[in-house]
Amino acid sequence: MSFKADLHIHTTASDGSMTPKEVVWHAKEVGLDGLSITDHDTIGAYPEALIEAKKAGLKIGTGVEFSSQYDGMSVHVLGYHFALDGESILDLCRRHRIRREKRNRAILENLKKENMFIAPEELKGELVGRPHIAHLMVKKGYVATIKEAFTSYLGEGRKCYALGDPISTEETLDAIRLSGGKSFLAHPHLLLKGPWVRRLITLPFDGIECYYARCHLEREKRWLKHCAQNELLISGGSDFHGDAKPFNTMGCSWVDQQAYDAIFEG
Ligand code: AMP
Ligand code: ZN
Ligand code: FE
Ligand code: FE
Repeated sequence: MSFKADLHIHTTASDGSMTPKEVVWHAKEVGLDGLSITDHDTIGAYPEALIEAKKAGLKIGTGVEFSSQYDGMSVHVLGYHFALDGESILDLCRRHRIRREKRNRAILENLKKENMFIAPEELKGELVGRPHIAHLMVKKGYVATIKEAFTSYLGEGRKCYALGDPISTEETLDAIRLSGGKSFLAHPHLLLKGPWVRRLITLPFDGIECYYARCHLEREKRWLKHCAQNELLISGGSDFHGDAKPFNTMGCSWVDQQAYDAIFEG
């Protein structure tokens, strides 16, 4: 059997539905050899994940998915192979926690104007994102589905959306590098097309997430070619969130041993 590692996985430390422990054993169950957990703006899933991966006999490399802004656009940056006690990574996670607290308060204020009432105390967890708010909106009967919560209220530019103080893509890359990590542009397939993307990819990324969820082969080819021409590393993963995104099954996208080692052994 050939080696497979899923390098884009979320847990309950951010907006996934499985705990770090459950994620590791699920990876084992679906036949993966390695993984990286990439929660939004937090590394809280480690070290539990490291302990469980050791027990399960799986390879694991450190990971995170930072939210950032470039040219007024939202850009997700994956960081890999950084030191978990790296001061710049920890500092960036702290800044995001503050950004999110402020942003979530603004979203709740906006929802109040639409006669949807959620108290700040109802947002529980170390890292609260829009999916948590959407979930409460469904539970309280304000909307029928999570999807409706996003398309009508919480999605970018929608009625109740708030960004909070943005953190730039450039400073995100700096923080990852300063903690000894490598930066990857996450799911380029999902970026809004435009000349800004050409500028974005000139930033000092170490690689690109060429394999993503169930993207079609044609869409991967473009990015694989770009990586080959520019000596960039390749990453890939499912963006697994458990029940929160049922179509992204763990291992539906993955990298081989060579790509894994280039990121985590290089
Ligand atoms: P946040 O990190 O708080 O900005 O929220 C981003 C998260 O919201 C991502 O993990 C997405 O999976 C989720 N999300 C974004 N748009 C939608 C949508 N239309 N439906 C469901 N989830 C979404
Ligand atoms: Zn998410
Ligand atoms: Fe993302
Ligand atoms: Fe993700």
